Amino acid sequence: MRETLVLNASFEPLSTVSLRRAVVLVMREKAVVEQSHPGLRVRAAQLDIPVPQVIRLRRFVRVPFRQRASWSRRGVLVRDRHRCAYCGRRATTVDHVVPRSHGGGDTWLNTVAACAADNHRKADRTPAQAGMRLLVKPFEPTPADSLLLALGLGEGDTLPEWLSVPAATA
Ligand SMILES: [Zn+2]
Repeated sequence: MRETLVLNASFEPLSTVSLRRAVVLVMREKAVVEQSHPGLRVRAAQLDIPVPQVIRLRRFVRVPFRQRASWSRRGVLVRDRHRCAYCGRRATTVDHVVPRSHGGGDTWLNTVAACAADNHRKADRTPAQAGMRLLVKPFEPTPADSLLLALGLGEGDTLPEWLSVPAATA
């Protein structure tokens, strides 16, 4: 999917986000469209906006840009897009890959989003002990994820899957 450039309120470029995320930022009135694709619009029942190429935040944010974002449960869910690392379904909980009782910590590389059922099934075991396989390896959040966290976006701040965003040509 095409990326949209995000400028801080001061016009300083911060990051790129997916078009879908850019539309959410505009819808939530976190950002305004600075530049858009001529003739392309995102349309849905309550929505009709130009497809943004560049958006600018309404309020200045201090983004931990080069530093690592500090770990949080919400951050793990945002990073993993609320998808369970074991089955791919919707996740509402955070699983410690190596359980805390086995010395696993609250770190980006030791935690994944998980659905309640898989988290319960895995319980106090490692994936190998539980006979479960990670579909994705945990990773440090990207600058785009850090930006979304700094803006306080998270649960519910995603576009519905049915809302199609037109594919723009370069
Ligand atoms: Zn699951």
